[in-house]
Amino acid sequence: MSFELEKKVGLQAVTKAARACARMSGQSEFRETLYKTDGSPVTLADFFVQALINEELSTSFPEIPIVAEETSLCLEGNCGEKLRNHLGKLLPGKNSDEILLAIDRGNNEGGGRGKFWTLDPIDGTRGFLAKRQYAIALALIEDGEVVLGILGCPELGPDARNGAGGKKGFVFFAEKGQGSYQVTLSDGLQTRISVSGITKASEAVMCESAEAPDSSYEFSGKISRFLDITAEPVRMDSQCKYAILARGDTSIYLRPPPRKDYKENIWDHAAGYMIVREAGGTVTDSSGKPLDFSVGKKLHENRGILATNGVIHEAVLRAVKKTVSKKRHAG
Ligand code: AMP
Ligand code: MG
Repeated sequence: MSFELEKKVGLQAVTKAARACARMSGQSEFRETLYKTDGSPVTLADFFVQALINEELSTSFPEIPIVAEETSLCLEGNCGEKLRNHLGKLLPGKNSDEILLAIDRGNNEGGGRGKFWTLDPIDGTRGFLAKRQYAIALALIEDGEVVLGILGCPELGPDARNGAGGKKGFVFFAEKGQGSYQVTLSDGLQTRISVSGITKASEAVMCESAEAPDSSYEFSGKISRFLDITAEPVRMDSQCKYAILARGDTSIYLRPPPRKDYKENIWDHAAGYMIVREAGGTVTDSSGKPLDFSVGKKLHENRGILATNGVIHEAVLRAVKKTVSKKRHAG
């Protein structure tokens, strides 16, 4: 089964959105922020990208539902008025109701049957606001299995490990069985990417969230020491972490669960998961279980995330297991 048309339309939509974000990210209007009921920020950029991509997807594939992060709820009433007006200017030809409708085309619940898209319009909104990294993350899931992943990373440089320098802005994509690719946002130059070739965990560069709970940093610090890793970790927002692992800048992405009952959203992982796997890497939860995208909007069957270059996956899992059991004995 090939997903040629979905890949073409998805890539066009993400590239268009990523270019628009790159162009407008410095404008204060584009960074206008509201806060959701859970206290997390959502910006004009989030709503704009969700409306734009949902519109493009549903024009070409009216029958494929979309599971997206945002809903139009925040935009209702007085507090949403400013953003509704800005959206009208960014999406000419659409009235306010049509824009809200486009955003709410993302209200599907997902599951294990048939095809659906999952979209995080701005993954890493905190990173976007702090002028760090963020990603536009789109994936296609069929019968519970991720078959296509696309990540737009407007602020990402050519080598995250070695810091700034070089032209920034990339789109990554991977279709099941077809490898992973990186495309420059400025001129569309496409190259195949693969994970790092290191064979010893001690040689790994670890990657983790830029804003993780302290407990996560403590935990990953223990894993690093256990594995004799000497390199400083790369801390980065969003699924850009998967992208830099997929092209070999880093070799481990560890995301420990912050609490027992914490469940990850599918749109925070599906695209990156596909890009790492097709680049030769391995992605499981932090106990080694495969990720199950078939059970709704969250990864209800999984706890935490571990992505590696594949070769060192078992070694890192052993380190996680030992560290967890030590903690249990101590606590
Ligand atoms: P990121 O996906 O790295 O951009 O992180 C996005 C948000 O997820 C952060 O701002 C945190 O609130 C939360 N977060 C970061 N690290 C973890 C973690 N290890 N487990 C769960 N949530 C996390
Ligand atoms: Mg988001």
